[in-house]
Amino acid sequence: MTKRILQLTTVLSNQIAAGEVIERPASVVKELVENSLDAKSTQIEIDIEGGGIHLIRIRDNGCGIVKEDLPLAFARHATSKIATVDDLEAIATLGFRGEALASIASVSRCRLLSKAINQKDAWQIQLAADMRPSISPIAHSQGTTVEIADLFYNTPVRRKFIRSEKTEFQAIDDTVKRLALSYPSVSFRLTHQNKLVRYYPGVSARMNESSRVEKICGSAFMNQAISIELEAYGLKLHGWLGSPHLLRRQADCQYFFVNQRMVKDRLLNHVIKTIYQEQTGLSEGTYPSYVLYLKVDLGDVDVNVHPTKQEVRFSQPRHIHDFISKAIGEALVQYPSVTRTLASKTQIFAPKMHQSFTATPMSVTPQRYALHEDETGITLCDLEKGRESFLKTYLLGWWGRITRKNLLFVEEIPLSPELLADLRLLSWLNDLGYWIKIKPDCLMMMAVPNIFAHVNPCEFLKLLIKEIVTSKDKNAICEWLARNLPLQSLFMLDHETFIA
Ligand code: ADP
Ligand code: MG
Repeated sequence: MTKRILQLTTVLSNQIAAGEVIERPASVVKELVENSLDAKSTQIEIDIEGGGIHLIRIRDNGCGIVKEDLPLAFARHATSKIATVDDLEAIATLGFRGEALASIASVSRCRLLSKAINQKDAWQIQLAADMRPSISPIAHSQGTTVEIADLFYNTPVRRKFIRSEKTEFQAIDDTVKRLALSYPSVSFRLTHQNKLVRYYPGVSARMNESSRVEKICGSAFMNQAISIELEAYGLKLHGWLGSPHLLRRQADCQYFFVNQRMVKDRLLNHVIKTIYQEQTGLSEGTYPSYVLYLKVDLGDVDVNVHPTKQEVRFSQPRHIHDFISKAIGEALVQYPSVTRTLASKTQIFAPKMHQSFTATPMSVTPQRYALHEDETGITLCDLEKGRESFLKTYLLGWWGRITRKNLLFVEEIPLSPELLADLRLLSWLNDLGYWIKIKPDCLMMMAVPNIFAHVNPCEFLKLLIKEIVTSKDKNAICEWLARNLPLQSLFMLDHETFIA
């Protein structure tokens, strides 16, 4: 017999939606705190009881909800964040699907209290088991409080998947950490069983952002972290890279935010791990740690690809991954590689080459001779004679990984718009070890290749740019540099692996 088709009740269809979005108490915390953040709150308090299964209470000081809109807040597909399909092209809020409150309310006992900005009175809305709302006056300061009790009380299947209170609270704690990292200016307080567990006071400028990162990732991470900052091609990246020597056995300190949204990007994780392994000798079974913030044009990232919005799609993923890996690769050069630190000061050669090169100058004629050792014995090298070939070999061999040295003062070099848009030029400068930022009419130089320490940075860069623009390949550039760099440049190399 054919089964007849029935329209699902509101409660049931909301419960089905909840199956996708609300996996565990931590998911409720994520959705509610995201709402508070979208409401421009500066203070968010999160009270948890029984791992979030008994009670989740979130209180904020955001814009609030006006009385007339209270029932709508719990209606499915009702949102104040988008109105037309065009809005989907550039989503600036964390939420936009209009599903969270409806889903949460369908699997819990729920009430919401709110006083909207510029309103005299506060109102409370409570939902019956069939989602019918009742509204009554209440006392509340500006902002919103949402209380979720007895999560999954009416969905026994979901309840079965809930782990111990401790584990569930741990997941909430992790969620709050991510949210706190993505909005450092907002103050967060988290309690469990009436005990204060976390307090992250709001921090203002970028300078202080690091104090929040330190609070969440620990001082072991922060003390040795390299901070990175890069802006090019409409992308902005900043953040901190953990030392490869931290040897974390878990991938538990990997945070990537796109436009203040915590994002899981498995490909990017993999790319970053590979760079760490190749460049620092990070061993198998250990994980790099990082906190990275990427800013992309809203139109270049699609956040509407995942129900809990944890994944995003970039319009040009290759471009973005390349940009990030470049930035990281360049920054990591500052860490001596494990293989490089293992090599003693007098034998600094790639072991597989069976050769070593010591840049410790002979005392007779300082800075002119070096010992060169291979299986046939030790040879004395005249550096002056070998200068060009040493430098060229170094530049080619370390292309893309050349150590750099920060300038004491940032130098600005005016350049024509064509040159500033010349991608080959910019990427070669980057590969040679320059750290530059592009401004509309000039190039800002923050760091120069270590081996260029003995030349005037601005003058030399101008010459180099001319050379790069007219030369046909990297080889020609390395030859030109080898001809034009002074002998002293070689002595900047003593900690480098020298590929002969
Ligand atoms: P979405 O966030 O996708 O819009 P939600 O179901 O999470 O959907 O919330 C529905 C609406 O309720 C929001 O669009 C917003 O207008 C309002 N809202 C929810 N929480 C808050 C809050 N803490 N402060 C102010 N408004 C809120
Ligand atoms: Mg929401």
